[in-house]
Amino acid sequence: MEIAKEKKNKEYQVVLQDKGRCPLIDEALPHCYCSDTRSMAIDDIIYYCGGNYEQCPIYQNNRDLL
Ligand code: SF4
Repeated sequence: MEIAKEKKNKEYQVVLQDKGRCPLIDEALPHCYCSDTRSMAIDDIIYYCGGNYEQCPIYQNNRDLL
């Protein structure tokens, strides 16, 4: 279980270094998936924050903050 979690965390770090990451990620909102990496939201972090942020419901509701 811990190995799988470590693997996910490494995936998360690699994905967040990609160019397609969310522009809000450097000042993530308190309710952003990436604000709590202890949560079960690792898959959402990788998917949304790492490259598909335009589909993220939090991004869609807060993109006027940019
Ligand atoms: S993709 Fe969504 S959850 Fe991730 S930083 Fe952007 S707004 Fe927040």
